[in-house]
Amino acid sequence: MGNIVAIVGRPNVGKSTLFNRLTGTRKAIVNETAGVTRDRNYGKADWNGTEFSLIDTGGFSVNSDDIFEEEIRKQVMLAIDESDAILFVLDVQHGLTDFDQAVAKILRRTKKKVYVVANKADNSELIYAANEFYSLGIGDLVYPISSVNGSGTGDMLDALVADFIEKPEEDDMDLPRIAFVGRPNVGKSSTVNALLGVDRNIVTDVAGTTRDSIHTRFQGFGHDFIMVDTAGVRKKPKVNEDLEFYSVMRSIRTIESADVCVLILDATRGVEAQDLAIYDMVIKNRKGCVVMVNKWDLLSKETNTMKEFEADIRKRLAPFNDVPIVFTSAVEKVRLIKVLENAITVYENRVRKIKTSELNKVMLKAIENFRPPAVKGKFIQIKYVSQLPTFAPTFAFYCNLPQYIRDSYKRYLENQIRDNWDFTGVPIQIFVRKK
Ligand code: GDP
Ligand code: GDP
Repeated sequence: MGNIVAIVGRPNVGKSTLFNRLTGTRKAIVNETAGVTRDRNYGKADWNGTEFSLIDTGGFSVNSDDIFEEEIRKQVMLAIDESDAILFVLDVQHGLTDFDQAVAKILRRTKKKVYVVANKADNSELIYAANEFYSLGIGDLVYPISSVNGSGTGDMLDALVADFIEKPEEDDMDLPRIAFVGRPNVGKSSTVNALLGVDRNIVTDVAGTTRDSIHTRFQGFGHDFIMVDTAGVRKKPKVNEDLEFYSVMRSIRTIESADVCVLILDATRGVEAQDLAIYDMVIKNRKGCVVMVNKWDLLSKETNTMKEFEADIRKRLAPFNDVPIVFTSAVEKVRLIKVLENAITVYENRVRKIKTSELNKVMLKAIENFRPPAVKGKFIQIKYVSQLPTFAPTFAFYCNLPQYIRDSYKRYLENQIRDNWDFTGVPIQIFVRKK
């Protein structure tokens, strides 16, 4: 399991610019069919082969200058609880503000690693000015960086990654790890209790359960797997607090330590922004996914409701929406076993390995039927394909001119793979390599 790094700081210091630079993203995901823009607050970053999760806490609040200090205080404390390291971003061109001092006061009290990042240090004069931030008394060093031109980020990342703690696998059992995730009140505990309550004897706490997560072995209905949950460090937020921030922060560890995530939605609410934020996190981690539409008992049903509901959910989840969708009631115990069965199937899909000979037989034919278009008069030839020995399905296509293979063609390849083998519920990665 990787380390989790949170970016904190007041509005406009450059948190999202830094986030985009470190995760290599440029813009928010725009889902044109559904007409929604998804903010990217959570992403994966990689520095010299070390992968980590990055969360931009500022992405959750309105970017206004008069955010309540109390709200920020709560966000920062939750970020401290849920992450392994903090990037405290300041604006060297603007200098220290009362707001910065308030955040610093909270950060000084944590035992977690905090890095003081002096952003907007675009030139040597500004790099020198960054020394002002030593007065905060946090950490040993101030890291002057420019998120816009990238200078200084290498030194900062070297320090960050060098301090990472090696995280041991949380249990060594070779069983599917399944997690129930979703924002507060969708029915996560009701579901887990309903499943576990069937027969308490089928449940054993697994040794190696850490402070952060609880692993419970479940044996019953012909299944044997581990249910992953995170320990409730903090209580559920009150109604007016930032539910999205809370549910995203609280889900990171759970998602990262699972193989398959059951994303629970509330049927009475439909798909909301925070549901999509959690879904994106599952997909970015290349975990398997099952969508569970809970509280179905509360809806008055006409003949087509389920079909329409399902179509609408798929539209909202796009581009990747090839996931099982199950309509349930946790209180009435309806179709919960079906959710489990789907989760196990998705797990099997995720560990599926296609024989190279079979893969080539099918895919080379599909490529022959629809060749990548020639570019500048050059013929593009894909000669060979193999599935890489990775934990999540990854396919490498070997090609004479990999740089000319477009994303649309990669999507064609992915669709062909999905048409020929069952990868329902599982994100697939396609690489094109030079041969
Ligand atoms: P956030 O509210 O903390 O997420 O801040 P943003 O990332 O939205 O950045 C606020 C403004 O600062 C934007 O206009 C950015 O272009 C600008 N900015 C961010 N990083 C830098 C930097 O390194 N140098 C300069 N000169 N401007 C920056
Ligand atoms: P969690 O915060 O996601 O763990 O949600 P809970 O399991 O605590 O459920 C929140 C509320 O929704 C509780 O009052 C549950 O009784 C109720 N609830 C959960 N599942 C269902 C369901 O399938 N149908 C109905 N009618 N209520 C449900």
